[in-house]
Amino acid sequence: MSDDCIFCSIVDGEIPARTVTETNDVIAFLDANPLAAGHTLVIPKAHHTHLGDLPADLSAAVFEVVSDLTPRVQTAVEADAATVGINDGAAAGQEVPHVHVHIVPRFEGDGGAPIHAVAGDRPDLDDEELDAIAETIRG
Ligand code: AMP
Repeated sequence: MSDDCIFCSIVDGEIPARTVTETNDVIAFLDANPLAAGHTLVIPKAHHTHLGDLPADLSAAVFEVVSDLTPRVQTAVEADAATVGINDGAAAGQEVPHVHVHIVPRFEGDGGAPIHAVAGDRPDLDDEELDAIAETIRG
């Protein structure tokens, strides 16, 4: 629990939310400023800022709810698809520093874009650079 975290306040019932499902460790509720009808946020109840901060079992619990809920959200609003994503860090657009997964229902012709549209200028990386990045990630 973080004292000045709005999502912790939702977990504690101090501020209202339109909860759609809840487990011991995870809660999901409608986004207050939806990008589409049915826009839902899935969060761990424990306060963690970044995806990489989550213990493995909590990460699994969050994504179990995400995978269960995504088709249910789509069906509820008769969506054609969904974009599922996390803004992980301020530079990626994270405004609430408590891990949350966005489930955004998508509709044919909704004027939106695929997840490939989120980044800025694409880098022009050659094979050596790609190999080096992969090696660094592998550690
Ligand atoms: P992000 O930019 O990824 O941190 O997204 C934060 C999301 O939280 C935004 O889509 C907001 O509309 C949403 N949000 C902020 N406050 C609330 C709230 N009290 N209840 C529901 N959603 C909220």
